[in-house]
Amino acid sequence: MARKTAPHSVRCYYCRRQFEVGARAESTACPGCGKAIIVGDVLVKQLKPVTTVRTCGRVVVHRKGRIIARDVEAHGGVEVMGILDANVVSGGPVVIGPKAQWNGDCNAPSVVIKQGAQVNGQFVVPDPSVVRIAAPKPDEASATGDEAPTQGEATDRSGTRAAPAAGASKVIGAGRSPTQANVPGRRGGTA
Ligand SMILES: [Zn+2]
Repeated sequence: MARKTAPHSVRCYYCRRQFEVGARAESTACPGCGKAIIVGDVLVKQLKPVTTVRTCGRVVVHRKGRIIARDVEAHGGVEVMGILDANVVSGGPVVIGPKAQWNGDCNAPSVVIKQGAQVNGQFVVPDPSVVRIAAPKPDEASATGDEAPTQGEATDRSGTRAAPAAGASKVIGAGRSPTQANVPGRRGGTA
């Protein structure tokens, strides 16, 4: 369970320059445009009314959190357990929890909607264009090069619907969320 301490690459959401940051960095100045950018996760635990939320990490809305924004751009993914009112562009997996309320459009490489979630909006999944907003190469695990390329993902097959195009599957493989193989979809079955 060694926590990653190696630097990882991020992509500036202003100028799209890619560069490396330390594993624990929360924010930094982009070497390309000089602007301050958020590279850590944005955690929303209460009402957060803003115009725009952008991060190279993830946006996580807790159970009692509520984010009201025009736009959310999260390169690492979005997880909503509370309420989200925003149009979302995510470079990583989107997870909408069972008690979540989601109002807004969503462009993401993959989405998991738990049973019970309320969702309103136009979803484009996978959207090949958003895959590019995050770091293009899933090279986070580059500490040692002994990891096989993303071939043997047999365990992911059970719940995954609509196998995405080649480009998008890289991001899915790189995701850290253990829940993403658990696409509930419609379960109208009898069992
Ligand atoms: Zn920049």
